[in-house]
Amino acid sequence: MTRTHCPYCALQCGTRLEVSPQGLTVSPDEDFPVNAGRLCMKGWTAPRVLSAPDRLTSPLMRQRPGAQQRPVPWETALDRVGAELRRIVSAHGPDAVAVFGGGGLTNEKAYTLGKFARVALGTSQIDYNGRFCMSSAAAAGSAAFGLDRGLPFPVTDLASAEVVLLAGANVAETMPPLMQHLAGADLIVVDPRRSATAEGAALHLSPAPGTDLALALGLLHVAVVDGHVDHGYVAQRTTGFDEAWRRAAEWWPERTERVTGVPVADQYAAVRMLAAAKRRYVLTGRGAEQHSKGTDTVSSYINLALALGMPGREGSGYGCLTGQGNGQGGREHGQKADQLPGYRRITDPAAREHVAGVWGVDPADLPGAGPSGYELLDSLGRPGGPRALLVFGSNPVVSAPAAGEITARLASLDLLVVADFVPSETARMADVVLPVTQWAEEDGTMTNLEGRVLRRRRAIDPPPGVRTDLWVLRELAGRLGQPAHRFPDDPGEVFAELRRASQGGAADYSGIEPRNLDDQAEPVHWPFPAGGSSTPRLFLERFAHEDGRARFRAVAHRDAAELPDGAYPLHATTGRVLAQYQSGAQTRRVPESVEADGEAFVEVHPDTARRSGLTAGGLARVVSRRGATVARVRTVASLRTDTVFLPFHFPDAGRANLITNPALDPVSRMPEFKVCSVRLEPLGSG
Ligand code: SF4
Repeated sequence: MTRTHCPYCALQCGTRLEVSPQGLTVSPDEDFPVNAGRLCMKGWTAPRVLSAPDRLTSPLMRQRPGAQQRPVPWETALDRVGAELRRIVSAHGPDAVAVFGGGGLTNEKAYTLGKFARVALGTSQIDYNGRFCMSSAAAAGSAAFGLDRGLPFPVTDLASAEVVLLAGANVAETMPPLMQHLAGADLIVVDPRRSATAEGAALHLSPAPGTDLALALGLLHVAVVDGHVDHGYVAQRTTGFDEAWRRAAEWWPERTERVTGVPVADQYAAVRMLAAAKRRYVLTGRGAEQHSKGTDTVSSYINLALALGMPGREGSGYGCLTGQGNGQGGREHGQKADQLPGYRRITDPAAREHVAGVWGVDPADLPGAGPSGYELLDSLGRPGGPRALLVFGSNPVVSAPAAGEITARLASLDLLVVADFVPSETARMADVVLPVTQWAEEDGTMTNLEGRVLRRRRAIDPPPGVRTDLWVLRELAGRLGQPAHRFPDDPGEVFAELRRASQGGAADYSGIEPRNLDDQAEPVHWPFPAGGSSTPRLFLERFAHEDGRARFRAVAHRDAAELPDGAYPLHATTGRVLAQYQSGAQTRRVPESVEADGEAFVEVHPDTARRSGLTAGGLARVVSRRGATVARVRTVASLRTDTVFLPFHFPDAGRANLITNPALDPVSRMPEFKVCSVRLEPLGSG
């Protein structure tokens, strides 16, 4: 039996793997407190992906553009990639090569990928799909508290909550085992849809898509005028309340109702529920974040929590429900465009000095900050943009906004290299595909949404022909002239180096000894400095800003980048379903997931369907200014009549991201996945 963790979401449920002649079976780890004996269907069926019929077991290569991908030996594939990278860098400079990583990569892979880009390639062009996932909450959390850790308290603290406000988080479908910790709380759910989570809530607030910020400002307004502000806490532990209140003062309840559609009475009810509870939390998810004003929206929810005196108190607080498996660790170790390991800014001279020292290079040789994920992908193949891209652990053909244009950008490259374990839609476009190990075949560490560092353990051997990502990076670095010792492929060695690189940074792992990770039940939360200990709860004494105080941010509402008009009269919003995970590259290969939800669909209110000539079960084209997607119509009476909903897990013509708007948040550079304008066209029964 091997104790490890689910390969999917940021909860990182503990699992026990048993190997038998029939294959690998998974069961929940009863001792791991986060999932406490539960798994969702994705966790139960995760072993299916290990033996997917189309599992990649040999490198594939396209000899020339348009030719078929064919199996080749590793040496051939790596030599081709090495030679092309050298040619492109020598002809066009290091920034002609870009790297795109993933929030599911282990800490060791994320760390090595960032180092590979900055040292072996010398490129500034690296970012990752976490930019699409929770970068707005990271920016808002850093601004408010001086430090961003998804949950600054253990998940199990939620079990004693009396009231929890969930803003844009459909936990019942995305993280079902978390629901057991919320069972004793009255839930206030903010979601334009009546999601599975909203269905069981004490109060459901359904703002029009793109108006969450106005609603949060309105809730702060009610908190003030209804007399719920904790003035002692605000005076002692925060700064900036007056400016934030001045903005919220404009959002009197009737105006908030007019803009968001949330009734005045519900605004009061939500604030009074939160204010009356002793133990209460505000938690945000992608619904609050994935907007062109996502940072301000999350800041506005943090302002509400601060006004009520919640963050930094045991039994209360604010947190972000990070999405991807290593969404937290993935943003700490240097695969983000503007950061170095330890969650340090790449522009900080002291950070560059420290990390360059660990890497054995001159800090002056490290590149500066590069473009954000979408901007990087959108620049591919354009004049002055990168001509080669290496993708690890991501499937942007399905998951990037305006996916049609991004697919065209990928097709315009001189060289596309994809490391993956299945032929994802992005891998199928690649000139070279490198088959790599997946969760149960590898060792490493992950960091879940509570900043808890976990050990991923190898339970079985990978199929012959498959290599680890760390081995691939070492081999490529060698072909780019790097000494082998600089790029170890042993995860333990990489973790030891990562700890040194993180020392003194915001996400300090330097005190974590491998033995601390032996017992899954032992809580190992960063910061864990050398000579120190785990920090399960942050901010109890002081926040991480120099003066120890949290910051209110004064933010103003603005409209979504695109509003409905005569040509595109409806809001479209995107999200997730229980059976599928992210771009679906893994779960679309699981028969149980396909049976539960195997094709693209669009939820439409019955009146809207009738007006658009659509019938339940028929096919519709959902058309935006960027393209059209084809989806099966589901009529849902609880949905707003001005809104349609599409999950984004499906491929080809069913990609929801063919229609999404890449308008970016000015701070986090996160795209506006959650709202765009569309029209519906019937396509018949299909
Ligand atoms: Fe895996 Fe997340 Fe489901 Fe837990 S909740 S079993 S980590 S997908």
